[in-house]
Amino acid sequence: MDHRRTDIPALDLAPELAEVASDLEAALRRVIYLGVKHAIGVNSGTDALVLALRALGVGPSDEVITTPFTFFATAESISSVGALPVFVDIDIESFNIRPDLVERAISERTRAILPVHLFGAPADIAALGSIARRHKIALVEDAAQAFGALDQDRHVGTFGVFGAYSFFPSKNLGCLGDGGLLSTDDDDLAAHVRALRAHGARKKYFNEFVGYNSRLDALQAAFLRAKLPHVDEWNEARRKAASRYCVQLRGTPGILLPPERRGTQHVFHQFTIRVTGGRRDALREYLARRGIATMVYYPTPLHRLPVYAGAEARCPAAELASTEVLSLPLWPRITEDLQSRIVSEIREFCGAH
Ligand SMILES: *Cc1c(COP(=O)(O)O)cnc(C)c1O
Repeated sequence: MDHRRTDIPALDLAPELAEVASDLEAALRRVIYLGVKHAIGVNSGTDALVLALRALGVGPSDEVITTPFTFFATAESISSVGALPVFVDIDIESFNIRPDLVERAISERTRAILPVHLFGAPADIAALGSIARRHKIALVEDAAQAFGALDQDRHVGTFGVFGAYSFFPSKNLGCLGDGGLLSTDDDDLAAHVRALRAHGARKKYFNEFVGYNSRLDALQAAFLRAKLPHVDEWNEARRKAASRYCVQLRGTPGILLPPERRGTQHVFHQFTIRVTGGRRDALREYLARRGIATMVYYPTPLHRLPVYAGAEARCPAAELASTEVLSLPLWPRITEDLQSRIVSEIREFCGAH
C-alpha cells in the first residue's frame, strides 16, 4: 500500500472559506450576538425606527405610545410615518416608561408601544411585552443606547417584534459616522425592511413601493466589524466605572444614584445622577469651573417641545427628571483617579466633607 499523502484532494474547501472568512465571521457574530434571526444594517438608529414602523404598517390616524424622556428621534420616527406619538410618564428612578401608564393610554387607534432603554438601562420589557400581547399591538424597542444590555441574560432589543439600534459614534457600539440596525425574528417583516431600505425594491429596478435609501455603508460596517468583538468588555468596563461612582457617591446629601433593576444588566451609556433641591444647574456650573464637563440629557421632555405642543400629556416625573438629571463623565477607559477627582468635587459642593 502506498502511504504517500494525496497531492490532489477530491475537494478542498479551505481556500474559498479563507477568502470569505472575515465576512462569514461577521455574519455569524452579527446574528449570534443578539440571538435573532435577522439583523438588518441600516443608515441610522432613526431610520431603524422609521423602517420598523413602516414595515408594521403604522401610519396616519394610528397612535404609538412612547416616553417623553428620550432623544427626539424616538418620537420623530412616529411623526415621520404620519402617526401620533402618545406620551406617557416615566418611573422617576429608572427614567424608563411606566407599564401601568402605558396600559391606561391604549386606545382603539394604538398600533404599537415604543419603549426606550434609556441610558443603557433595560426598560420593564416583561411587563410591556405582556401588555402588547394582551392588546395585540406591536412592541418596538428603541435600544439605541443599550447595545449589549441584558434582561434575564437576553439582549434588549430582542423581546419586541423589532429592536432598533444606533451606531452613532457616541453610542456604546459606535461607527465613524451614521449607522443603525434592526433586529427581528419575523421573516416577512425582515424582507419588508430589506426592501424598504433599498427604495422599496426586492428585485433591483423593480420597485414595489416607496422606500428609502437607508443601507449601512461598507465603511461603517468595516468599523463595526472591528469593534463588535470588544463591545462586551467595554460595556463591562463601563459597569465597573459606574459601580465605582456609586460606591464613592453613596450617602452624598442631595445626590440620587441610578439603580440597577434585579435580573438586568445596565450598560451605562450614561451615568446619570439626580441632583435634588433645585441645585442641578449650580452643581453643573461648579464642576464646569473646575474643568469637569457634564451633560443634561434631556433638558426638555418631548411633550414640552413646541413641535409637540398639541400633545395632551401629563408627565410630571419626566418634567421633574429634566430639572434634576446630570450625566457624569464615563467611558470604558476612564481612570479611577479622574473619577475620584470628580466625586470629591461633587461631595465638596454638597457639603459632604
Ligand atoms: C441616538 C438615538 C436614536 C437615533 O439614533 P441615530 O443613529 O442618531 O439616528 C434614537 N433613539 C435614542 C434613544 C437615541 O439615543
